[in-house]
Amino acid sequence: MRTKLTILSIFITSVVFAQDIHRCGTVEAVQFRNEQNPGYKQAVEATFNAAKIHTSQKTASEPAPIYRIPVVVHIVYNTPEENISDDLVHAQIARLNKDYRRLNEDTADTRSEFLPVAADAGIEFYLAGEDPQGNPTGGITRTQTSRSDFAPDFFGNGMDDVKQSSMEGVDSWDTDNYLNMWVCDLAGTNPLFQIFGFAYPPAGAPNWPANNGAPSSELEGVVVHYEVFGDGNPLAVGTMSVSDQGRTAVHEVGHYLGLRHIWGDALFGDGCTEDDGIDDTPNASANAAQQCNFSNNTCVDGGSVDFPDMIENYMDYAQDRCMNLFTQGQVDIMRSMLETARTELADESVEPSGIQDFLDESEVGLFPNPSNGNIQVQLPANHACLAIRVFDLSGKQINATNGSLSGQLIDVNTTVSPGAYILQLDFAEGMLNKRFTVY
Ligand code: ZN
Ligand code: CA
Repeated sequence: MRTKLTILSIFITSVVFAQDIHRCGTVEAVQFRNEQNPGYKQAVEATFNAAKIHTSQKTASEPAPIYRIPVVVHIVYNTPEENISDDLVHAQIARLNKDYRRLNEDTADTRSEFLPVAADAGIEFYLAGEDPQGNPTGGITRTQTSRSDFAPDFFGNGMDDVKQSSMEGVDSWDTDNYLNMWVCDLAGTNPLFQIFGFAYPPAGAPNWPANNGAPSSELEGVVVHYEVFGDGNPLAVGTMSVSDQGRTAVHEVGHYLGLRHIWGDALFGDGCTEDDGIDDTPNASANAAQQCNFSNNTCVDGGSVDFPDMIENYMDYAQDRCMNLFTQGQVDIMRSMLETARTELADESVEPSGIQDFLDESEVGLFPNPSNGNIQVQLPANHACLAIRVFDLSGKQINATNGSLSGQLIDVNTTVSPGAYILQLDFAEGMLNKRFTVY
Protein backbone atom coordinates (compact mmCIF):
# COMPACT_ATOMS: atom_id res chain seq x y z
CA MET A 1 0.00 0.00 0.00
CA ARG A 2 2.84 2.36 0.82
CA THR A 3 4.13 1.81 -2.69
CA LYS A 4 0.89 2.81 -4.28
CA LEU A 5 0.61 5.88 -2.08
CA THR A 6 4.10 6.99 -3.08
CA ILE A 7 3.27 6.69 -6.75
CA LEU A 8 -0.05 8.39 -6.27
CA SER A 9 1.56 11.33 -4.51
CA ILE A 10 4.12 11.71 -7.27
CA PHE A 11 1.50 11.60 -9.99
CA ILE A 12 -0.71 14.10 -8.23
CA THR A 13 2.21 16.38 -7.40
CA SER A 14 3.30 16.36 -11.02
CA VAL A 15 -0.17 17.16 -12.21
CA VAL A 16 -0.53 20.03 -9.78
CA PHE A 17 2.88 21.43 -10.72
CA ALA A 18 2.11 21.25 -14.43
CA GLN A 19 -1.23 22.93 -13.83
CA ASP A 20 -2.57 21.73 -17.16
CA ILE A 21 -1.96 18.82 -19.48
CA HIS A 22 0.86 16.54 -18.51
CA ARG A 23 3.00 16.48 -21.55
CA CYS A 24 5.43 13.66 -20.86
CA GLY A 25 5.15 10.68 -18.54
CA THR A 26 8.79 9.61 -18.56
CA VAL A 27 9.63 10.62 -15.00
CA GLU A 28 6.54 8.83 -13.69
CA ALA A 29 7.26 5.80 -15.86
CA VAL A 30 10.79 5.54 -14.45
CA GLN A 31 9.43 5.90 -10.91
CA PHE A 32 6.78 3.28 -11.57
CA ARG A 33 9.31 0.81 -12.97
CA ASN A 34 11.55 1.45 -10.01
CA GLU A 35 8.76 0.28 -7.73
CA GLN A 36 8.42 -2.88 -9.84
CA ASN A 37 12.18 -3.39 -10.29
CA PRO A 38 13.98 -1.88 -7.27
CA GLY A 39 17.34 -0.49 -8.37
CA TYR A 40 16.09 0.49 -11.81
CA LYS A 41 16.35 4.23 -11.18
CA GLN A 42 19.86 3.76 -9.87
CA ALA A 43 20.70 1.82 -13.05
CA VAL A 44 19.41 4.69 -15.19
CA GLU A 45 21.54 7.18 -13.25
CA ALA A 46 24.63 4.99 -13.38
CA THR A 47 24.20 4.52 -17.14
CA PHE A 48 23.96 8.29 -17.52
CA ASN A 49 27.15 8.76 -15.50
CA ALA A 50 28.92 6.09 -17.55
CA ALA A 51 27.93 7.95 -20.73
CA LYS A 52 29.32 11.18 -19.28
CA ILE A 53 32.62 9.51 -18.48
CA HIS A 54 32.70 7.98 -21.97
CA THR A 55 32.19 11.45 -23.44
CA SER A 56 35.01 12.93 -21.39
CA GLN A 57 37.39 10.22 -22.60
CA LYS A 58 36.86 10.94 -26.29
CA THR A 59 39.52 12.81 -28.15
CA ALA A 60 38.68 15.53 -30.62
CA SER A 61 40.64 13.82 -33.38
CA GLU A 62 38.30 10.80 -33.52
CA PRO A 63 35.99 10.85 -36.53
CA ALA A 64 32.36 11.55 -35.65
CA PRO A 65 30.19 9.11 -37.58
CA ILE A 66 26.58 9.80 -38.45
CA TYR A 67 24.42 7.30 -36.57
CA ARG A 68 21.39 6.03 -38.51
CA ILE A 69 18.66 4.39 -36.47
CA PRO A 70 16.10 1.99 -37.98
CA VAL A 71 12.60 2.68 -36.74
CA VAL A 72 9.42 0.62 -36.66
CA VAL A 73 6.18 2.47 -36.00
CA HIS A 74 3.40 0.34 -34.50
CA ILE A 75 0.02 1.98 -35.01
CA VAL A 76 -2.40 0.46 -32.50
CA TYR A 77 -5.86 1.79 -33.21
CA ASN A 78 -9.39 1.33 -32.01
CA THR A 79 -11.19 3.92 -34.15
CA PRO A 80 -10.37 4.72 -37.80
CA GLU A 81 -9.23 8.18 -36.67
CA GLU A 82 -6.49 6.60 -34.56
CA ASN A 83 -5.23 4.69 -37.61
CA ILE A 84 -3.09 7.62 -38.77
CA SER A 85 -1.76 7.80 -42.33
CA ASP A 86 1.58 6.68 -43.73
CA ASP A 87 2.11 10.31 -44.74
CA LEU A 88 2.01 11.41 -41.11
CA VAL A 89 4.52 8.72 -40.16
CA HIS A 90 6.83 9.90 -42.94
CA ALA A 91 6.36 13.49 -41.75
CA GLN A 92 7.38 12.37 -38.25
CA ILE A 93 10.57 10.72 -39.51
CA ALA A 94 11.39 13.87 -41.50
CA ARG A 95 10.84 15.99 -38.36
CA LEU A 96 13.20 13.77 -36.37
CA ASN A 97 15.82 14.04 -39.09
CA LYS A 98 15.56 17.81 -39.26
CA ASP A 99 15.75 18.33 -35.52
CA TYR A 100 18.50 15.76 -34.82
CA ARG A 101 20.68 17.20 -37.62
CA ARG A 102 19.88 20.82 -36.78
CA LEU A 103 18.38 21.17 -40.24
CA ASN A 104 15.10 22.44 -38.79
CA GLU A 105 13.50 25.44 -40.47
CA ASP A 106 13.52 27.48 -37.26
CA THR A 107 17.20 27.49 -36.27
CA ALA A 108 17.08 31.24 -36.89
CA ASP A 109 14.74 31.53 -33.89
CA THR A 110 17.43 30.31 -31.47
CA ARG A 111 18.35 33.24 -29.23
CA SER A 112 21.88 34.50 -29.83
CA GLU A 113 23.12 33.60 -26.33
CA PHE A 114 22.33 29.94 -27.06
CA LEU A 115 23.84 29.73 -30.55
CA PRO A 116 27.30 28.76 -29.23
CA VAL A 117 25.88 25.59 -27.62
CA ALA A 118 23.18 24.61 -30.17
CA ALA A 119 24.40 21.46 -31.92
CA ASP A 120 23.83 18.91 -34.69
CA ALA A 121 23.38 15.51 -33.00
CA GLY A 122 24.59 13.65 -36.08
CA ILE A 123 21.77 11.12 -35.61
CA GLU A 124 19.35 10.15 -38.38
CA PHE A 125 16.27 7.93 -38.50
CA TYR A 126 14.75 5.75 -41.21
CA LEU A 127 11.81 3.39 -41.39
CA ALA A 128 13.14 -0.15 -41.27
CA GLY A 129 13.30 -1.92 -44.61
CA GLU A 130 13.54 -5.39 -43.10
CA ASP A 131 11.58 -6.96 -40.26
CA PRO A 132 13.24 -9.18 -37.61
CA GLN A 133 12.59 -12.26 -39.79
CA GLY A 134 14.36 -10.63 -42.74
CA ASN A 135 11.21 -9.90 -44.73
CA PRO A 136 10.82 -6.62 -46.58
CA THR A 137 8.70 -4.05 -44.73
CA GLY A 138 7.72 -0.39 -44.90
CA GLY A 139 8.58 -0.06 -41.20
CA ILE A 140 4.95 0.51 -40.16
CA THR A 141 2.62 -2.05 -38.52
CA ARG A 142 -1.10 -1.54 -38.10
CA THR A 143 -3.17 -3.44 -35.56
CA GLN A 144 -6.74 -2.90 -34.49
CA THR A 145 -7.34 -3.26 -30.77
CA SER A 146 -10.46 -3.67 -28.69
CA ARG A 147 -9.01 -1.24 -26.12
CA SER A 148 -10.52 2.24 -26.29
CA ASP A 149 -7.26 3.70 -24.93
CA PHE A 150 -3.91 2.86 -23.35
CA ALA A 151 -3.85 5.65 -20.78
CA PRO A 152 -2.18 4.65 -17.49
CA ASP A 153 -4.21 5.02 -14.31
CA PHE A 154 -3.22 7.31 -11.44
CA PHE A 155 -0.88 4.62 -10.10
CA GLY A 156 0.93 4.25 -13.42
CA ASN A 157 -0.64 0.86 -14.06
CA GLY A 158 -1.13 0.04 -17.72
CA MET A 159 1.66 2.29 -18.92
CA ASP A 160 3.23 -0.50 -20.96
CA ASP A 161 0.08 -2.29 -22.12
CA VAL A 162 0.36 -0.99 -25.69
CA LYS A 163 3.67 -2.84 -26.00
CA GLN A 164 2.18 -6.23 -25.18
CA SER A 165 -0.10 -8.34 -27.36
CA SER A 166 -1.34 -10.05 -24.18
CA MET A 167 -2.82 -6.67 -23.19
CA GLU A 168 -4.35 -6.02 -26.64
CA GLY A 169 -1.28 -4.06 -27.68
CA VAL A 170 1.50 -5.03 -30.10
CA ASP A 171 4.77 -6.74 -29.13
CA SER A 172 8.00 -4.95 -29.91
CA TRP A 173 10.45 -5.90 -32.60
CA ASP A 174 13.90 -6.80 -31.22
CA THR A 175 14.54 -3.68 -29.19
CA ASP A 176 18.32 -3.97 -29.45
CA ASN A 177 18.13 -3.46 -33.20
CA TYR A 178 15.06 -1.30 -33.78
CA LEU A 179 13.74 1.87 -32.23
CA ASN A 180 10.12 0.85 -31.58
CA MET A 181 7.55 3.65 -31.60
CA TRP A 182 3.99 2.89 -30.57
CA VAL A 183 1.25 5.28 -31.64
CA CYS A 184 -2.06 4.90 -29.81
CA ASP A 185 -4.61 6.72 -27.69
CA LEU A 186 -2.27 7.32 -24.75
CA ALA A 187 -4.02 10.41 -23.41
CA GLY A 188 -7.36 8.75 -22.70
CA THR A 189 -10.25 10.73 -21.31
CA ASN A 190 -9.16 11.68 -17.78
CA PRO A 191 -8.91 15.49 -17.96
CA LEU A 192 -6.58 15.61 -14.93
CA PHE A 193 -3.90 13.41 -16.36
CA GLN A 194 -3.36 13.32 -20.08
CA ILE A 195 0.10 12.41 -21.31
CA PHE A 196 1.39 12.88 -24.84
CA GLY A 197 4.27 10.42 -24.65
CA PHE A 198 6.92 8.65 -22.60
CA ALA A 199 10.08 6.61 -23.04
CA TYR A 200 12.46 4.63 -20.85
CA PRO A 201 16.05 5.91 -20.76
CA PRO A 202 18.89 3.43 -21.26
CA ALA A 203 19.39 1.46 -18.06
CA GLY A 204 22.15 -1.01 -18.60
CA ALA A 205 25.45 -0.62 -20.33
CA PRO A 206 26.74 -4.02 -21.52
CA ASN A 207 29.46 -4.09 -18.87
CA TRP A 208 26.87 -4.06 -16.10
CA PRO A 209 25.91 -6.89 -13.79
CA ALA A 210 22.87 -8.81 -14.98
CA ASN A 211 20.72 -7.99 -11.96
CA ASN A 212 20.73 -4.26 -12.51
CA GLY A 213 16.98 -3.92 -12.17
CA ALA A 214 16.39 -2.87 -15.78
CA PRO A 215 12.86 -3.45 -17.02
CA SER A 216 12.25 -6.16 -19.51
CA SER A 217 14.03 -5.16 -22.71
CA GLU A 218 10.85 -5.86 -24.69
CA LEU A 219 9.41 -2.65 -23.22
CA GLU A 220 12.14 -0.35 -24.55
CA GLY A 221 10.98 2.29 -27.01
CA VAL A 222 8.81 5.37 -27.35
CA VAL A 223 5.04 5.75 -26.99
CA VAL A 224 3.31 8.80 -28.50
CA HIS A 225 -0.34 9.83 -28.45
CA TYR A 226 -1.87 9.57 -31.93
CA GLU A 227 -3.10 13.18 -32.10
CA VAL A 228 0.41 14.62 -31.74
CA PHE A 229 2.40 12.10 -33.79
CA GLY A 230 3.74 13.47 -37.07
CA ASP A 231 4.58 16.99 -38.19
CA GLY A 232 1.36 18.83 -38.98
CA ASN A 233 -1.07 16.26 -37.58
CA PRO A 234 -4.57 17.63 -38.37
CA LEU A 235 -5.79 16.20 -35.03
CA ALA A 236 -3.35 18.41 -33.05
CA VAL A 237 -6.04 20.94 -32.16
CA GLY A 238 -7.43 22.22 -28.87
CA THR A 239 -5.39 20.88 -25.95
CA MET A 240 -3.16 19.00 -28.36
CA SER A 241 -2.29 22.06 -30.45
CA VAL A 242 0.76 22.78 -28.28
CA SER A 243 2.43 19.86 -30.06
CA ASP A 244 1.52 20.28 -33.71
CA GLN A 245 4.99 19.86 -35.27
CA GLY A 246 5.93 16.34 -34.23
CA ARG A 247 8.19 17.44 -31.41
CA THR A 248 6.66 15.18 -28.78
CA ALA A 249 8.46 12.32 -30.55
CA VAL A 250 11.65 14.42 -30.77
CA HIS A 251 11.44 14.92 -26.98
CA GLU A 252 10.67 11.26 -26.21
CA VAL A 253 13.51 9.99 -28.41
CA GLY A 254 15.72 12.36 -26.39
CA HIS A 255 14.68 10.46 -23.23
CA TYR A 256 15.17 7.13 -25.02
CA LEU A 257 18.74 8.26 -25.75
CA GLY A 258 19.32 9.20 -22.12
CA LEU A 259 18.37 12.87 -21.77
CA ARG A 260 16.51 14.33 -18.81
CA HIS A 261 14.23 17.35 -18.65
CA ILE A 262 16.34 20.49 -18.56
CA TRP A 263 14.69 21.81 -15.39
CA GLY A 264 15.77 18.69 -13.47
CA ASP A 265 12.34 17.50 -12.28
CA ALA A 266 12.72 18.55 -8.67
CA LEU A 267 9.44 17.72 -6.93
CA PHE A 268 10.08 19.56 -3.70
CA GLY A 269 12.16 22.46 -2.41
CA ASP A 270 14.40 24.71 -4.46
CA GLY A 271 14.32 23.44 -8.03
CA CYS A 272 17.50 25.35 -8.81
CA THR A 273 19.58 22.80 -6.90
CA GLU A 274 18.35 19.93 -9.09
CA ASP A 275 19.71 19.93 -12.62
CA ASP A 276 19.74 17.68 -15.67
CA GLY A 277 23.38 16.61 -15.44
CA ILE A 278 24.25 18.59 -18.56
CA ASP A 279 26.63 21.52 -18.21
CA ASP A 280 25.49 23.73 -21.07
CA THR A 281 21.75 23.87 -20.35
CA PRO A 282 21.04 26.81 -18.02
CA ASN A 283 19.68 25.90 -14.61
CA ALA A 284 15.90 26.09 -14.33
CA SER A 285 13.50 25.28 -11.52
CA ALA A 286 10.34 24.94 -13.58
CA ASN A 287 9.32 23.87 -17.05
CA ALA A 288 7.97 26.11 -19.79
CA ALA A 289 4.40 24.91 -19.09
CA GLN A 290 3.20 24.70 -22.72
CA GLN A 291 3.96 28.39 -23.26
CA CYS A 292 6.47 30.32 -25.36
CA ASN A 293 7.50 32.81 -22.71
CA PHE A 294 10.99 34.06 -23.55
CA SER A 295 11.21 36.13 -20.36
CA ASN A 296 11.25 33.01 -18.14
CA ASN A 297 14.29 33.05 -15.85
CA THR A 298 13.70 30.80 -12.86
CA CYS A 299 17.28 30.41 -11.56
CA VAL A 300 20.34 32.62 -11.30
CA ASP A 301 23.18 30.87 -13.11
CA GLY A 302 26.54 30.59 -11.40
CA GLY A 303 28.80 32.02 -14.09
CA SER A 304 29.36 35.58 -15.28
CA VAL A 305 26.13 35.52 -17.30
CA ASP A 306 22.67 34.77 -15.94
CA PHE A 307 21.00 33.02 -18.84
CA PRO A 308 17.24 32.96 -19.31
CA ASP A 309 15.55 29.54 -19.17
CA MET A 310 16.29 27.69 -22.42
CA ILE A 311 12.69 27.22 -23.51
CA GLU A 312 13.94 26.48 -27.06
CA ASN A 313 15.27 23.15 -25.83
CA TYR A 314 13.48 20.02 -27.05
CA MET A 315 13.72 18.65 -23.50
CA ASP A 316 11.60 21.44 -22.02
CA TYR A 317 7.79 21.72 -22.18
CA ALA A 318 7.40 24.77 -24.42
CA GLN A 319 5.08 24.61 -27.40
CA ASP A 320 6.45 22.89 -30.48
CA ARG A 321 6.59 26.16 -32.38
CA CYS A 322 9.25 27.63 -30.09
CA MET A 323 11.42 24.53 -29.63
CA ASN A 324 14.46 24.40 -31.89
CA LEU A 325 17.59 22.99 -30.26
CA PHE A 326 19.62 20.35 -28.48
CA THR A 327 22.84 21.52 -26.85
CA GLN A 328 26.32 20.10 -27.43
CA GLY A 329 26.23 18.58 -23.94
CA GLN A 330 22.96 16.78 -24.73
CA VAL A 331 24.32 15.64 -28.09
CA ASP A 332 27.40 14.21 -26.38
CA ILE A 333 25.21 12.15 -24.02
CA MET A 334 22.96 10.80 -26.78
CA ARG A 335 25.91 9.78 -28.93
CA SER A 336 27.69 8.23 -25.97
CA MET A 337 24.54 6.23 -25.18
CA LEU A 338 24.67 4.78 -28.71
CA GLU A 339 28.30 3.86 -28.07
CA THR A 340 27.88 2.37 -24.57
CA ALA A 341 24.27 1.38 -23.84
CA ARG A 342 22.31 1.01 -27.09
CA THR A 343 25.27 -0.36 -28.94
CA GLU A 344 23.52 -2.53 -31.54
CA LEU A 345 20.92 0.02 -32.52
CA ALA A 346 22.50 2.40 -35.00
CA ASP A 347 24.23 1.89 -38.32
CA GLU A 348 27.33 3.98 -38.58
CA SER A 349 28.32 5.93 -41.60
CA VAL A 350 31.16 8.30 -41.77
CA GLU A 351 29.86 11.43 -43.39
CA PRO A 352 31.82 12.34 -46.49
CA SER A 353 34.68 14.26 -45.06
CA GLY A 354 38.09 15.38 -46.13
CA ILE A 355 36.39 17.12 -49.06
CA GLN A 356 38.06 20.32 -47.96
CA ASP A 357 41.42 18.71 -48.67
CA PHE A 358 40.86 18.99 -52.39
CA LEU A 359 38.03 21.46 -52.79
CA ASP A 360 37.43 24.94 -51.50
CA GLU A 361 33.70 24.91 -50.72
CA SER A 362 33.44 28.51 -51.88
CA GLU A 363 34.12 27.23 -55.41
CA VAL A 364 30.67 25.65 -55.33
CA GLY A 365 27.72 27.99 -55.63
CA LEU A 366 24.04 27.29 -55.09
CA PHE A 367 21.49 30.04 -55.73
CA PRO A 368 19.04 31.41 -55.13
CA ASN A 369 18.57 29.99 -51.66
CA PRO A 370 15.81 29.88 -50.57
CA SER A 371 14.19 29.30 -53.95
CA ASN A 372 10.95 28.22 -55.56
CA GLY A 373 12.63 24.90 -56.39
CA ASN A 374 14.57 26.10 -59.45
CA ILE A 375 18.17 26.51 -58.45
CA GLN A 376 21.48 26.93 -60.25
CA VAL A 377 24.63 25.14 -59.16
CA GLN A 378 28.02 26.55 -60.04
CA LEU A 379 30.54 23.72 -60.28
CA PRO A 380 34.28 24.14 -59.61
CA ALA A 381 36.61 24.43 -62.59
CA ASN A 382 39.16 21.79 -61.68
CA HIS A 383 37.14 18.88 -60.30
CA ALA A 384 34.77 16.66 -62.27
CA CYS A 385 31.36 16.29 -60.68
CA LEU A 386 29.94 12.86 -61.54
CA ALA A 387 26.42 13.33 -60.25
CA ILE A 388 24.18 15.97 -58.71
CA ARG A 389 21.41 14.51 -56.53
CA VAL A 390 18.62 16.04 -54.49
CA PHE A 391 17.28 14.32 -51.36
CA ASP A 392 14.53 15.22 -48.97
CA LEU A 393 15.23 14.96 -45.26
CA SER A 394 13.74 11.49 -45.01
CA GLY A 395 16.55 10.37 -47.33
CA LYS A 396 14.32 9.93 -50.38
CA GLN A 397 16.02 10.85 -53.65
CA ILE A 398 14.08 13.49 -55.58
CA ASN A 399 16.18 13.71 -58.72
CA ALA A 400 19.64 13.18 -60.17
CA THR A 401 21.77 14.64 -62.94
CA ASN A 402 24.66 12.45 -64.09
CA GLY A 403 27.70 13.29 -66.16
CA SER A 404 31.23 14.50 -65.83
CA LEU A 405 30.74 18.19 -65.31
CA SER A 406 33.05 21.00 -64.25
CA GLY A 407 33.18 24.76 -64.40
CA GLN A 408 29.56 24.94 -65.51
CA LEU A 409 26.40 26.50 -64.26
CA ILE A 410 23.84 23.69 -64.00
CA ASP A 411 20.09 24.16 -63.67
CA VAL A 412 18.47 21.89 -61.11
CA ASN A 413 14.71 22.20 -61.33
CA THR A 414 12.98 20.50 -58.49
CA THR A 415 9.23 20.35 -58.11
CA VAL A 416 8.87 19.73 -54.43
CA SER A 417 6.81 20.92 -51.53
CA PRO A 418 8.23 23.68 -49.33
CA GLY A 419 10.92 22.60 -46.89
CA ALA A 420 14.59 21.80 -46.50
CA TYR A 421 16.46 19.60 -48.99
CA ILE A 422 19.96 18.30 -49.48
CA LEU A 423 21.91 18.80 -52.69
CA GLN A 424 24.62 16.18 -53.00
CA LEU A 425 27.55 16.68 -55.36
CA ASP A 426 29.41 13.48 -56.12
CA PHE A 427 33.07 14.07 -57.03
CA ALA A 428 35.62 11.38 -57.77
CA GLU A 429 37.41 12.47 -54.58
CA GLY A 430 34.34 12.43 -52.30
CA MET A 431 30.93 13.93 -51.79
CA LEU A 432 29.81 17.39 -50.81
CA ASN A 433 26.35 17.98 -49.28
CA LYS A 434 24.72 21.36 -49.34
CA ARG A 435 21.42 22.26 -47.79
CA PHE A 436 18.80 24.43 -49.49
CA THR A 437 15.31 25.59 -48.74
CA VAL A 438 12.28 25.67 -51.01
CA TYR A 439 9.50 28.08 -50.09
ZN1 ZN B 1 9.83 14.30 -21.03
CA1 CA C 1 18.92 31.92 -15.32
